[in-house]
Amino acid sequence: MLSDTLHTKLNEQLNFELESAYVYFSMAAYMDSVSLDGFASWMKLQAQEEIGHAMRIYNYINDRGKAAVMLALPQPPTKFKSVLEVFKTALGHEEKLATKLNTLSQEALSEKDNTTYTFLEWFLTEQVEEVSTVSTICDKLEMIGDNGYGVLMLSNELGQRKPEPTP
Ligand code: MG
Repeated sequence: MLSDTLHTKLNEQLNFELESAYVYFSMAAYMDSVSLDGFASWMKLQAQEEIGHAMRIYNYINDRGKAAVMLALPQPPTKFKSVLEVFKTALGHEEKLATKLNTLSQEALSEKDNTTYTFLEWFLTEQVEEVSTVSTICDKLEMIGDNGYGVLMLSNELGQRKPEPTP
C-alpha cells in the first residue's frame, strides 16, 4: 500500500493534471473566440492528454490500495492579450508540472518506493517533451511577432495535430 505522504502527493499531482486540462480548455476557448481554430484544436487535444495523465495516476492510486480524492480546482485565466501570452502561460504551467513531478519522484526515491518511482519515470520523460514542445511554439511566435499571416500559418500547422493513441 502507498504511504500516506505518497498518497497525498500523488493525489495532488492528479489534481494538478486536471487543473492543467482546465487551463488548456480555457485557452482553447480564447483561441476559438479569436477564430484561431488550429490553436484551439491543439489546446483541446492538450487538455485531453492531461486528463489521460490524471487517469493514469487515478488508476495507480487505486491499484496501490488507496482512493483518489478530487480537490477544488482554481479558476483558470480567461482573458489573454495575445497568442504569445497564452503559450507563455502554458509554458510556465508545464514547467511548474515538471518541478512538481521532480519533487514527487524524489519523495518516492527517499521512501524507497521503487514501484512508484518506476511509475513516475514515464511522466518525467513525457514532461521533458511537453516543455520542449511548448517552448518551441513560443520561440516561433516570438519570430512571427505581429505578423497576422504568420500567426494564422502556425495555427493551421498546429491544427494538424492528431490525438495520441491511448496506451
Ligand atoms: Mg500532464
